[in-house]
Amino acid sequence: MSELVYIGLGANLNNPYDTIRSAITALSTLADCEFVGQSKIYASKPMGPADQPDYVNAVVALKTSLSAHDIFSLTCQLEQAHGRTRNGEHWGPRTLDLDILLYGDNLINDDQLTVPHYGLKEREFVVFPMLDIDPLLVLPCGTALSDIAKTLAFNDMNAI
Ligand code: ADP
Ligand code: MG
Repeated sequence: MSELVYIGLGANLNNPYDTIRSAITALSTLADCEFVGQSKIYASKPMGPADQPDYVNAVVALKTSLSAHDIFSLTCQLEQAHGRTRNGEHWGPRTLDLDILLYGDNLINDDQLTVPHYGLKEREFVVFPMLDIDPLLVLPCGTALSDIAKTLAFNDMNAI
């Protein structure tokens, strides 16, 4: 049994480009996961509080036999290994943020996880990188991701 999982990466403190490169390498070499693809790496403007540095964003796709919650504990470990401390500020600056965007066509809603990720459809720094990996991607709700992209501006985002 294996699922295709999409993981969103974001960083805006302490050499974010290097952090994203390092996190992509770490994700693509996880046990019980097979690397499927990665997006370009983008620079983007912060969402939420504007008095913080620009973000670096990317998305990685993996095939895995692990559960979504196994993946979540691994991504939390990776965030911590890259120096993330949680100070409670939502959308505040961070050394590394890893979000589980999709776990196959599964719908998950519990204390730890909401999958598909609640912000997926509104965030251009998630939607455009996912389309780099699969331009024909269809979400579990049946909507083509390319149709969602048409509602979003490619503003303030540059491949780097
Ligand atoms: P955000 O990414 O929204 O800025 P955090 O990274 O601090 O916020 O995450 C806050 C909480 O979001 C985590 O403790 C986690 O339990 C929860 N969460 C819910 N759904 C997901 C998901 N799909 N991927 C990652 N975290 C999630
Ligand atoms: Mg997060």
